[in-house]
Amino acid sequence: MEQNIRYEKPVISIIKRLRKFRKDPKEAALPEKLFEKCNGCGSLISKNKIVENFFTCPECNYHFNITSKDRMDMLLDGYRIINRPFKFTNPIDFPTYKAKYRENKKKSGLKEGILTVEGYLNDIKLIVVSLDNRFFMGSMGSYIGEEITKAFEHAGERDLPILIFSTSGGARMQEGIFSLMQMAKTSIAVDRYGETKNLYISCMTHPTTGGVTASFASLGDIILAEPGALIGFAGARVIKETIKGELPENFQRAEFLKEKGFLDEIVHRKDMREYIYKLLKLHGYRGCKK
Ligand SMILES: [Zn+2]
Repeated sequence: MEQNIRYEKPVISIIKRLRKFRKDPKEAALPEKLFEKCNGCGSLISKNKIVENFFTCPECNYHFNITSKDRMDMLLDGYRIINRPFKFTNPIDFPTYKAKYRENKKKSGLKEGILTVEGYLNDIKLIVVSLDNRFFMGSMGSYIGEEITKAFEHAGERDLPILIFSTSGGARMQEGIFSLMQMAKTSIAVDRYGETKNLYISCMTHPTTGGVTASFASLGDIILAEPGALIGFAGARVIKETIKGELPENFQRAEFLKEKGFLDEIVHRKDMREYIYKLLKLHGYRGCKK
């Protein structure tokens, strides 16, 4: 049956997007649409340059936030989305949740902050999940927890490797205890997937914090991060007040965490495709039929 699934090629490749962007007179007429100030070094960089550099700054390597769709387009040769339909629920009747949900949906054009796909990286088939911090800061509510769990189950049943790009503000406070429960649920999903002897690669991107760091994102067989990503559980200010002392420079940044053995490697976005492919091959994945 698997052979009958048709995989769509990514609709907007980066190159196509670039061409469209250059052609669109509305976009080109506005200087603020042509240039973007880099949060890393403060330089004014042409958007074309940023896109050509995989949404990173050519001057200082700052990694701009990207959408989960852009991530899939840059990484994979073809994919199909396997998320289940989403229906809004308000499990603890949080007063402003529905209004906030509508606002986030309108602003981001998303229904929820997660994208799960089954796709190909060269000849290797894999499951890729990406959180999207345009929606509720990528915070983990019941739907995201369930989708992460389903992704592990789907990968395990099919003997596929799984790769998760995290970016999150933590648990979704509007869902109270239900969001906190997702930490246990996703951790169990990782553990069960581990029994299938398949590979789970976790990649933390800027920022990955709170309940997501404290659950599935830190449980990868291999843990990667993008350069400069902020990764932590509690915020630096809270920690500083608790320990009543100074924090080291670079605290909670990917480079600091790698030095302390929390991460296996920091991978630049432009090298991500090649790096992931190499890891998959090293673990014996190869040559699936398209
Ligand atoms: Zn820069």
